[in-house]
Amino acid sequence: MEKRTLFCYYSSQLVPSSSGPGRWPLTPETRVRSSLGLFSNNIMWFYKLNQMFFERLQHDADLLLAIENIFKQHDMRMGCFAVIGAVKGAHIAFYNQEEKQYIDTMIDKPAEILSCIGNVSEIEGKISVHAHIKLGYEDSSARGGHLLEGTVIFAAELFGVALEGEQLQRTFDEVTGLNLWAFEKNPY
Ligand code: ZN
Repeated sequence: MEKRTLFCYYSSQLVPSSSGPGRWPLTPETRVRSSLGLFSNNIMWFYKLNQMFFERLQHDADLLLAIENIFKQHDMRMGCFAVIGAVKGAHIAFYNQEEKQYIDTMIDKPAEILSCIGNVSEIEGKISVHAHIKLGYEDSSARGGHLLEGTVIFAAELFGVALEGEQLQRTFDEVTGLNLWAFEKNPY
């Protein structure tokens, strides 16, 4: 609740950016709130809504590739999405933070897609989808992780949002070993 109040307060200072992305003002007060854990990012990007859309994904298609294809086909290079439905089997991963590598798992049984959410940006000029998935099984247990190729759709419905503005890029981050959104400069 507290976070929400603060977010609105700061948003009201920022959102009027009508000509592309805005930058979070790094006032001393912002730094204090950030150090208290009230904000997780140093900088936020703001974009204009281009398009919202629904898409029914094809039976037997690869879930990750199907999502990627939709954004590529329409040249939507930034956005986010949510998918619900069911899969025949899944390929997911957990990122080991110490070893800085993904440990993957194949789950060869049907599941509900309780939630699959993600975002779209670029890595080295190419559209890149980052998605996580939570799966529900017959016994009501749930598993989930970072979505990999090899997750086969039974039926799936996607809600997508395409954004426009300064292109958001991922670059390799030494600290985490991941491709993360690049900040022009680190203000701290
Ligand atoms: Zn991930």
